[in-house]
Amino acid sequence: MMKKQMGWQFDNSYLTLSPTFYKKVTLNEVPEPKLIALNYLLADELGLDTEALYEEEAIHMFAGNAFPEGAAQIAQAYAGHQFGHFNMLGDGRALLVGEHVIGEERVDIQLKGAGRTPFSRGGDGRASLAPMLRELIISEAMHALGIPTTRSLAVVTTGDAVYRETALEGAILTRVAASHLRVGTFQYAAAFAGVEEVRELADYAISRHYPHVATADNPYIAFFEEVMERQAELIAKWQLVGFVHGVMNTDNMTISGETIDYGPCAFINAYDPDSVFSSIDHEGRYRYSNQPFIGGWNLARLAESLLPLFAEDEDEAITIAKQLIGRYEDYYEAYWISGMREKLGLISDEPDDLALAERLLTIMAQYKADFTQTFRALSENVRPVNAFFTSEEFRVWEQQWHARLARQETMLDDMQAMMQSVNPAVIPRNHLVEEALTAAQQHDFTKLEELMAACANPYDVLPEHMHYTEPPADDEPYVTYCGT
Ligand code: AMP
Ligand code: MG
Repeated sequence: MMKKQMGWQFDNSYLTLSPTFYKKVTLNEVPEPKLIALNYLLADELGLDTEALYEEEAIHMFAGNAFPEGAAQIAQAYAGHQFGHFNMLGDGRALLVGEHVIGEERVDIQLKGAGRTPFSRGGDGRASLAPMLRELIISEAMHALGIPTTRSLAVVTTGDAVYRETALEGAILTRVAASHLRVGTFQYAAAFAGVEEVRELADYAISRHYPHVATADNPYIAFFEEVMERQAELIAKWQLVGFVHGVMNTDNMTISGETIDYGPCAFINAYDPDSVFSSIDHEGRYRYSNQPFIGGWNLARLAESLLPLFAEDEDEAITIAKQLIGRYEDYYEAYWISGMREKLGLISDEPDDLALAERLLTIMAQYKADFTQTFRALSENVRPVNAFFTSEEFRVWEQQWHARLARQETMLDDMQAMMQSVNPAVIPRNHLVEEALTAAQQHDFTKLEELMAACANPYDVLPEHMHYTEPPADDEPYVTYCGT
């Protein structure tokens, strides 16, 4: 047990759930933990003693070698549909250290890559440095873009090698999340425990994330609607920045509405709605254009798990579930078009706005326009000389857009300021992430720090970060990997 507390305030409500929901874990110590990255701004937000986090005691905690008082040390049980196939899963390489309490809020502190757990199956429970730094870069960039996400507090190396195709340096990421409740946690309760456990879990999720629904006529229906709305909003936000999650399995969809599990994710450069980056997604199940649909598919799995709580009579429960799920698309489209209106500087609502936005995307796809740069150029009223901006199709669209803008009473300057506040100039572009990770694997962290600094202010580029706004010289096919 540690002497200094570094500001941690643990209180583990998860341990009040039935033991079926978790397994206690004792980790093997790692030999030589070394702090690679500390997100001190996040540490500060969490009310932690930032300086103490650079010291050995803290580093041993980030490595899973020692734990502050009150820490839980558990692996959570969950199941999930992976590429459509149902499996028992659970934290196979993650350890929940506990819930850190800051005033009225509580967040999960989890070590990813900390070692084997009872759910590790054939895996080693470990992670290597580059993928953990990749999660750090992208999750923090998502946060800066205003997209709900788990956060990354620290990355340490372990002093051990992990064996993938080659020997790699082992690393552990400290992940911070509103919670790690997933659609798959409910699927686990429904498939492997029982109705009472589903109810117990739902009550827990409600008290933790949606306490206001507790007094609804049927809190479980209201709870489902909340999760559905948060997911619709989240996926709309992904679409609006060209983010491809890559592995939208039901175990990777949170109940809180945060983006989780940065494995094979990537941002689109040249716009192609069929973009898929993951090496194993051969069918394109999780391609960009299919993400909204998969969101609904996953929510249907959540509804199935909650069925007995919707109504006692099964037919009635199914009718309710179908009605609920039937509204998902409307939620999603409402969030998407409202986000798209902001991107295009449209303050009022006109029925043809959807067609205007869709037409723009069609032309962007036709000319392989860079997703981020195109919207940013429209916001800054600049026109890069490229196939898209010089096309006849764009010229015609621009006339329609200008006519549409002229029908609202906003000053051009205000409109452009609004557009610039929602259309990022900087995203963690694939080639830049790769460049930073290649250097980081040689323990040169300058590129990584610079990239993270640029991504921390995506709407407001400093002169020294201008080169981060450029699309890659040639947008070569990019391949990403799961579970590395
Ligand atoms: P993911 O693809 O990261 O969502 O992981 C899917 C499942 O595989 C989860 O149950 C993980 O805990 C498990 N898993 C991934 N990598 C490993 C590993 N190296 N060792 C043990 N389990 C793992
Ligand atoms: Mg996962």
